[in-house]
Amino acid sequence: MKAAAFDYVKPASIDQVLALLHTHGDDARMLAGGQTLMATLNMRLSEPQLVIDITGIDSLRGISVQGPVLRIGALTTHTDIELSPLVARHAPLLKAAAPHIAHRAIRNRGTWGGSIAYADPAAEWPTCLLALGGTVIARGPRGERRIAADDFFTGLYSTALQVDELLVACEIPLAGADHWSGFSELARRHGDYAIVGLGVTARRKGPALHDLRIVVLGVDVMPVRARQTEALLEGHALGLSTVTQAVASLRSEIEPLPDLTNTSATKRYLAGVLLQRMLPIAD
Ligand SMILES: Cc1cc2nc3c(=O)[nH]c(=O)nc-3n(C[C@H](O)[C@H](O)[C@H](O)COP(=O)(O)OP(=O)(O)OC[C@H]3O[C@@H](n4cnc5c(N)ncnc54)[C@H](O)[C@@H]3O)c2cc1C
Repeated sequence: MKAAAFDYVKPASIDQVLALLHTHGDDARMLAGGQTLMATLNMRLSEPQLVIDITGIDSLRGISVQGPVLRIGALTTHTDIELSPLVARHAPLLKAAAPHIAHRAIRNRGTWGGSIAYADPAAEWPTCLLALGGTVIARGPRGERRIAADDFFTGLYSTALQVDELLVACEIPLAGADHWSGFSELARRHGDYAIVGLGVTARRKGPALHDLRIVVLGVDVMPVRARQTEALLEGHALGLSTVTQAVASLRSEIEPLPDLTNTSATKRYLAGVLLQRMLPIAD
């Protein structure tokens, strides 16, 4: 199929993007890496009247440390994140997750902001942003606002972003010396969207984990935190019996939606397998 006819514009500034969004609202779509948008246009799953190509706005690119946070600009590509020494040092969860996103050609073009804004429930970046307790920075006609990741994802491909807002960047707290994180997922073939995945962060003190954030992808309409299991593990030394209890807890608290090839029971079982493999069991 071919895309339905649309108008195309390539603004040079964020202000121009905001003016276009103000006028066209939900009839406009942003073109960032195009790795999702082009497919949805060509399959006519999306028929916007206007495509706003934001790739000419250099201020939306880049990774920097700003005080206590790592700032990742919306147009930063998956590959930029995968290869960034700043990311490896300050947000190692992202480095661990990046190779799971599609294939190199897609990672070279697909962007951080596109992935967060699109909010696919099986995508890696939304899961990581939630596990890292990050913040989305949105710019709109009323200025800039910050939205905690816990409040950002609201449903299937839905976020707290308003139709007249542009996602400009995200902020992630810098990993401290006691930071611990893990990412793992199961897919039929490497690079496919995951059947189920886990992104976990915590502070590690000796054999125990504190302030856990356990996020599961691919089981619900959006990435979900496993709060019951977070609470169960809080502050406990990770012996075999604690990990066994945590696996049972995770399986009991998620209600996975089946997909075309995997039942709810399969996903529930696999989520437990991932957690068991990931948790650092003390000797
Ligand atoms: C074959 C294939 C396999 C893939 N596998 C995976 C995978 O395993 N895991 C994964 O996470 N992703 C996967 N993807 C998707 C890929 O990661 C995309 O790059 C990503 O989902 C969207 O980023 P993009 O920059 O390409 O956005 P685009 O396609 O350009 O835009 C997507 C949507 O986001 C909106 N948008 C983009 N930028 C902004 C912004 N700054 N502010 C507000 N709205 C914005 C657009 O309006 C559009 O609706 C795959 C894609 C393909 C083609």
